[in-house]
Amino acid sequence: MIKPDAVQSNSIGGILEMMNTAGFRVIAMKYTKLTAELAGEFYAVHSARPFYGELVEYMSSGPIVAAILEKENAVADFRALIGATDPAEAAEGTIRSRFAESKAKNAVHGSDSDENAAVEGEFFFSKFERF
Ligand code: ADP
Ligand code: MG
Repeated sequence: MIKPDAVQSNSIGGILEMMNTAGFRVIAMKYTKLTAELAGEFYAVHSARPFYGELVEYMSSGPIVAAILEKENAVADFRALIGATDPAEAAEGTIRSRFAESKAKNAVHGSDSDENAAVEGEFFFSKFERF
């Protein structure tokens, strides 16, 4: 997902270019906006964390780009491409190092396992939206 801060800063094109250059293929993609309820559902795993309220408010604050990406070793390679959660700790050349504002407003989301990638893909896309 390209998060609201990165959409707001006109970074969609730059982020997609980095994804394509790194060898990720788009299977599904949409420009949409989450309600607070849907953002809360997407991040339900973090509901006990102190930043959950802030996260839900931020993720429903503006439009996002959701995508399913395909590549060998996609989860690990995408996490490496986006960099650490906190852009101050993200390695140079990563998406978050280049585009993220802060630990909360950190430009992109990447699934943390194949299982969660499947769940998150179902969250956004029907089977008629995948090619
Ligand atoms: P990641 O997105 O790198 O997998 P997490 O799963 O730990 O990171 O957290 C989910 C999202 O919650 C982060 O991408 C970020 O937007 C937000 N977040 C994480 N930690 C904090 C924090 N300490 N304060 C504010 N927001 C946070
Ligand atoms: Mg995570």
